[in-house]
Amino acid sequence: MTTLLLKNVRPMAGEIRDVTIVDGLFADGPAPEGAAEIDGGGAILIPGLVEAHTHLDKSLLGLPWYRNEVGARLIDKITNERENKERLGIEPARQSERQAIQSVAKGSTHIRSHVDVDTHHGLKGIEGVMATRDRLKDLVTIELVAFPQSGMMIRPGTAELMDQAMALGCEVVGGLDPCGIDRDPKGHLDTIFGLAERYGRPVDIHLHERDALGAFSMELIIERTEALGMQGHVTVSHAFCLGQTDRTVAAGLTEALARAGVHIVTTAPAAVPVPAVRELISAGVAVGAGSDGIRDTWGPFGNADMLERAMFIALKNNFRRDDEVEMALAVCTTGGAAVMELEGYGLGTGDKADAVLIEGETIAEAVANRAPRRLVLKGGRVVAENGVCVVEAP
Ligand SMILES: [Zn+2]
Repeated sequence: MTTLLLKNVRPMAGEIRDVTIVDGLFADGPAPEGAAEIDGGGAILIPGLVEAHTHLDKSLLGLPWYRNEVGARLIDKITNERENKERLGIEPARQSERQAIQSVAKGSTHIRSHVDVDTHHGLKGIEGVMATRDRLKDLVTIELVAFPQSGMMIRPGTAELMDQAMALGCEVVGGLDPCGIDRDPKGHLDTIFGLAERYGRPVDIHLHERDALGAFSMELIIERTEALGMQGHVTVSHAFCLGQTDRTVAAGLTEALARAGVHIVTTAPAAVPVPAVRELISAGVAVGAGSDGIRDTWGPFGNADMLERAMFIALKNNFRRDDEVEMALAVCTTGGAAVMELEGYGLGTGDKADAVLIEGETIAEAVANRAPRRLVLKGGRVVAENGVCVVEAP
């Protein structure tokens, strides 16, 4: 069903009207003769939610409860996961399909997933998530980031596997704490930017490093982005160093990010200083958001709901005014779309009919209520209804 008349909806909580979809795109004018009709009942129409940072290969969804007794350091979580993945039955193809279907049910039409590449599991995660990407292509757009979760320079053979992952068809080159994990910022960044250049692909780096160390790595990322002419094609995920208490340093970094066209993705975690969303957007930096890991060996939380993520962003940034809460939702829609460089994203004529119908009076109310999703459309086709995906999870 790619030709559709969506009656009585309110695009972005505005005036009630009918919306026509022809060949999977939003169209002008009346619907063609015989087009299917759906009554939206006055609900709010927004473009599809964008899950711009998650880990589809890691989720424990559908598996027995995992009792987490993992150490506090980043490396403890990394090692624990790598060594226990098989024992726990974290089969990447099945687990990624489970999570992706849950995302669709909650209104995400696009997912950027970092997927582990390491010398223990090789490319098993990549192959599994690619199978899901292909199987669910009519329901949700999935993009893979080849992600050296266990470190790259400290684990010889990983860089070669990253190269193979890109050759296999990963859309983005990933990276991880060039100093904090790899202890070799030049080696790490030269390798991943080298792969980006060779394959003509964007970069998305996990940067957990705080304060001065994070600022140093971020400056190196900005330098390389500009030197290689990769403006608009580089993302720093987490970027906790932007949440540092020295706001002069954070402001300098923000200005440099804007100049270099480097994007930021936040997950707005409750326990860590995070980038200030309003400051970044005011400076002209594209900001997207993601759930990060969802119920995995790293932590028990997460549900793939990007409307809830918008609420977390609002809470973490002390957003209270309606225009601020609307900004939080924009991070989870247009912001993520900018990060993923999506074409034809939005509710305009000619845009792809990837959209969500949510209940509520205003956008801010819908975010505050994590409002029910009445309908999710992908390419004009109904892919979820009343919170249930049209495809059943394995
Ligand atoms: Zn992550």
